[in-house]
Amino acid sequence: MKFDISEAFAKELDSLDNLNFADRFYKANDVIYMDGNSLGLMPKAGEAALLSAVEDYKNLGIDGWTEARQPWFYVAEKLGARMAKIVGALEGEVVVTGSTTVNIHNLLATFYKPSSKRTKLLMDELNFPSDIYAAQGHLRLLGRPADDLVLLKSQDGVTLDEDDIIAAFNDDVALVLLPSVLYRSGQLLDIERLTAKAHEKGIIIGFDCCHSAGSIPHKFHEWDVDFAVWCCYKYLNGGPGSSAAMFINRRHHGTQPGLPGWFGSDKSRQFDMALEFEPAGSAGAWQTGTPHIFSMAPIGGSLDVFEEFGMGNVREKSLKMTSYLMFLIDSLLVEQHGFSIATPRELQRRGGHVALAHGTDAIRINACLKAHSVIPDFRFPNIIRLAPIALYNTYHEVWRVVDIIREIMVSKKYLSMDEKRGPVA
Ligand SMILES: *Cc1c(COP(=O)(O)O)cnc(C)c1O
Repeated sequence: MKFDISEAFAKELDSLDNLNFADRFYKANDVIYMDGNSLGLMPKAGEAALLSAVEDYKNLGIDGWTEARQPWFYVAEKLGARMAKIVGALEGEVVVTGSTTVNIHNLLATFYKPSSKRTKLLMDELNFPSDIYAAQGHLRLLGRPADDLVLLKSQDGVTLDEDDIIAAFNDDVALVLLPSVLYRSGQLLDIERLTAKAHEKGIIIGFDCCHSAGSIPHKFHEWDVDFAVWCCYKYLNGGPGSSAAMFINRRHHGTQPGLPGWFGSDKSRQFDMALEFEPAGSAGAWQTGTPHIFSMAPIGGSLDVFEEFGMGNVREKSLKMTSYLMFLIDSLLVEQHGFSIATPRELQRRGGHVALAHGTDAIRINACLKAHSVIPDFRFPNIIRLAPIALYNTYHEVWRVVDIIREIMVSKKYLSMDEKRGPVA
């Protein structure tokens, strides 16, 4: 696709775009929101679903478990079945539950079974810290040495080389846990290839898909991934702290879940209150306690929006928007103002955000963007992440963001900003 740097061209792209759902979301009028990769905007349908759950609680009390419009007793599995379509899984392979970090604990407790020969847990040094903390804590719980956790090195500090990853699939590796999209650079790993290579070596492999779910269509079942986790508050617009989700390949159903609890029971037996745990024959078995109904309800509304827009369309438009953004950065910010793009260039190697690096001034530029009503986010030490969201951003907003960056660089307005980071980002 050939782009052009003019504002008129941005407006033309918008006029040709017949898929923009901006009016389905809440957003302050004068704000350009480019942070849907950290916390997606609230869909009106998400609000309606939440209010309907609140109303059911008011009117039904405990009967809401079975009589609510979305009966609470089945919500985790029902949402899981809808979510399964978004990530390319079979109906019983996804459950909406927990939080990403707790789900990682759960899946490590399920699938990391060091033997005398295979003891290593392979992750990478660019992974989201919480995932690493979970792994370290899990090794301590098991009384394993800390060096059972092997962190793959990055050669350039922002991306991982898939050949390096595959070369580390040694005979002493018990489990691999990798991100699908790296949270800083936005690099997308080839999940299918890595899964096939791990399986050739008899290694179980799982993915943290927080930065790809709702942005990239997956085929977890077809690719034969062992397990995956993701949150629902980033691209999936479920709201702050909304429940997370897990994929567990059908092949592993029947395996004892690592953090068992009564909500993982076979549903028809749960209220028998037997002291012997009888797990559900689906990913539902990996639930622990009572589902967080109000943190799950908005996800149903959000999925309505995704089902109507289509995951394939999300990815197609997202790639077009990020390609356009990269074109504008290359044309206007790289040589002129010392920026670089830390995101891989190839379409199949990048997720939904663009990582804009600036050697020394990224913190102040980020703060200055916020002062100009552009919401990006900053990741230490020098990355500004910009995520044009297919569902609700426009090409003109992409154009304006680059124009505002150019303007604050030319005017040097960013120099008056504080260099201190806030407590969040
Ligand atoms: C956002 C994110 C998390 C957050 O985990 P929570 O348990 O929801 O706080 C974990 N891992 C990755 C890779 C993330 O992007």
